[in-house]
Amino acid sequence: MEPRFFEPDEGVVPIGTETATSGLCQETHFYYCASAKAVDISQQTVHCKAVLPNHSGEEADLSFALEYDALVLATGAVGSTFGIPGVHEYAHFLREVSDAEHIRNNIIANLARCNLPGISPEERSRLLHFVIVGGGPTGVEFTGELTDFIIQDVARLFPGAAAEMKITLVEARDVLGSFEAAHRDYATTRLEKKGVHFQKATVKEVHAAHLETDNGNIPYGVLVWSTGVGPTPFVTALPLDHAAGRIAVDACLRARLADDPSKHLPNVFAAGDCSANVDAPLPALAQVAEQQGAYLAQCLNANAGKPSSDPPAFQYRHMGSMVSLGTGSAVIEIFGKGLTGWTAWFGWRTLPLTDPVTSVENETKQNQG
Ligand SMILES: Cc1cc2nc3c(=O)[nH]c(=O)nc-3n(C[C@H](O)[C@H](O)[C@H](O)COP(=O)(O)OP(=O)(O)OC[C@H]3O[C@@H](n4cnc5c(N)ncnc54)[C@H](O)[C@@H]3O)c2cc1C
Repeated sequence: MEPRFFEPDEGVVPIGTETATSGLCQETHFYYCASAKAVDISQQTVHCKAVLPNHSGEEADLSFALEYDALVLATGAVGSTFGIPGVHEYAHFLREVSDAEHIRNNIIANLARCNLPGISPEERSRLLHFVIVGGGPTGVEFTGELTDFIIQDVARLFPGAAAEMKITLVEARDVLGSFEAAHRDYATTRLEKKGVHFQKATVKEVHAAHLETDNGNIPYGVLVWSTGVGPTPFVTALPLDHAAGRIAVDACLRARLADDPSKHLPNVFAAGDCSANVDAPLPALAQVAEQQGAYLAQCLNANAGKPSSDPPAFQYRHMGSMVSLGTGSAVIEIFGKGLTGWTAWFGWRTLPLTDPVTSVENETKQNQG
């Protein structure tokens, strides 16, 4: 996500693993290309390790500590596995650009492998079977993109293999469960027409070449895992109160100490996928993270970078939900209305649901007024 910064007297110090840009290197802004390893709440210090390679290409062993007046934790999440054995070893997650590259390379490698002499028909059909676990918007969008890849690219380069390729989406409950029933039906029918198989099953264990489920074994050539988000080791180790693995926050996004969850910390905040307010839970979405980031910037700016003792509560404004089913079709649910088909796909391509700065400004003003 694109970082946004507030400008207090003392300056702002984002710590992250992305490449530094010149826009961050201003007098009041500092960017450290480093990984935060731990937070000492009593000393108001973040312990970090640089992630820049040194002259020989190895990672520099440079650790440092940063003191803070106010701390915003926004370190995101990782793919969840629910502790199912074999997921980490054999499945691809859908989180980083490198995940997408690995998936693509594996598909291409399987296309090459299935043509080798001596490959049995069973093995060939396994290699050409792509399985996605998780029928939420991310798993469904990936499925739509994969069908496009097969129809538009593989069919041209490997017509024989493309005709034999099979895509199965495994989901324990309803596919696109957060959408209206009519839209769920539209999405599954549309994907079925493109050749996607749906399997209602709960995965028990993942093996190198097959999934073990409560509905039988499913052999796969490439396995993609998209069952929601879970906490990073950094977040789990923080000496803060946790809710379902995420940093527990109050209505103003203030974190609480692990050993006394009844009290919030006035100067430690958490936003986005790494945080959760149990009284008003929100989905792990970019529009939530962006609105929370803008809200915190505004609260801190209002007090010249110092946390206020009585900030307005964060108000989330849901801008709508969209899911693409591949080129030419999508589902949009926005302002209580639904849209499907090509028009929805055009909307999915063009509507910015993650630009809430104006709406948050308005709502914060309303809260203050
Ligand atoms: C495949 C996919 C598709 C999605 N599609 C949509 C969509 O269409 N619409 C939508 O609203 N949401 C979507 N989401 C969800 C959305 O991307 C997240 O909700 C959003 O990015 C969360 O923002 P964040 O700032 O909390 O975390 P992130 O965007 O994950 O940012 C966290 C950052 O912190 C850095 N970091 C982590 N740990 C440390 C550390 N210890 N030290 C330093 N830096 C650290 C990470 O490198 C990362 O840059 C999608 C997610 C995925 C995976």
